[in-house]
Amino acid sequence: MSVSFPDLLDPRKAVAQRAVFEGELALWRLPRLAPLLWQAEVDGPEQQDGSEDGGSVRYRFEFGPDADGRGTARGRVAGQLPLRCQRCFERCELAVDAEVRLALVSGIDEAKVLPPQYEPLMIEDRLMRPTDLIEDELILAVPAIPRHPEGDCEPPRLLAGGPLTSAGGEQQASVAETSTHPFAGLAALRQERDDPKSQD
Ligand SMILES: [Zn+2]
Repeated sequence: MSVSFPDLLDPRKAVAQRAVFEGELALWRLPRLAPLLWQAEVDGPEQQDGSEDGGSVRYRFEFGPDADGRGTARGRVAGQLPLRCQRCFERCELAVDAEVRLALVSGIDEAKVLPPQYEPLMIEDRLMRPTDLIEDELILAVPAIPRHPEGDCEPPRLLAGGPLTSAGGEQQASVAETSTHPFAGLAALRQERDDPKSQD
């Protein structure tokens, strides 16, 4: 039998009880994830509760000892995240289906010697917020620059209606590309600096 995550959970007790948690979580309940998501505020306050339009994910976590007696939590988080495409600035959906294998540890030393299949779950206090496990996983899944698949959308046509007034026509064509290589200028600068042209 499984229940949904409580607000607070004693992970050691959950391991001892081999507890299973399963349910659906509305994304608006995850405050660290929320700023990364598409915000539909424009449509007014009717959707304030966010439960339908804001999206949700399904999860299942099983706690219990592994073969070595180590306290573990194995979970899966799946759903669609509404993000803002950084090419066209419209909404795009990211399908997430993440498997999590955590081992309870009470310090860095314990974390260091974990077998590679586990991520450490640091237990500082007796109780933890179990939805943090879901939120951490979703935050990891969000790409640095969310975008629709290549060719599915175009940048907004801000430049429609003629060439730029200043600084040469070449700039107009390369605006979209420049934004995808924010460090290109920096790299060039570094190269110049590292160039050993002034040897003493
Ligand atoms: Zn797009």
